[in-house]
Amino acid sequence: MLPKIALIIIIIAMVVILFRKSDSIGKSKKSSSDNNAVEMKKDPICGLYVEDTTSHKVKLEDEVYSFCSKKCKDEFITSKKK
Ligand SMILES: [Zn+2]
Repeated sequence: MLPKIALIIIIIAMVVILFRKSDSIGKSKKSSSDNNAVEMKKDPICGLYVEDTTSHKVKLEDEVYSFCSKKCKDEFITSKKK
């Protein structure tokens, strides 16, 4: 049986470790979004996430839509024309 003080120290240590972990995750997330300029956009046709650098893009009513392929892009244009 551990003395109560040891248990308290363990709990405090765990809290500190968890806090540091979540803090570092937040930091790494922030830095990764800073370093990685490529934004992921959802293809409205097939639901795939595509890089914002894709050449398959359509600008419609001040909104830019990104597509995984020309096929999806054409499908989107056709559906909007209807
Ligand atoms: Zn697609």
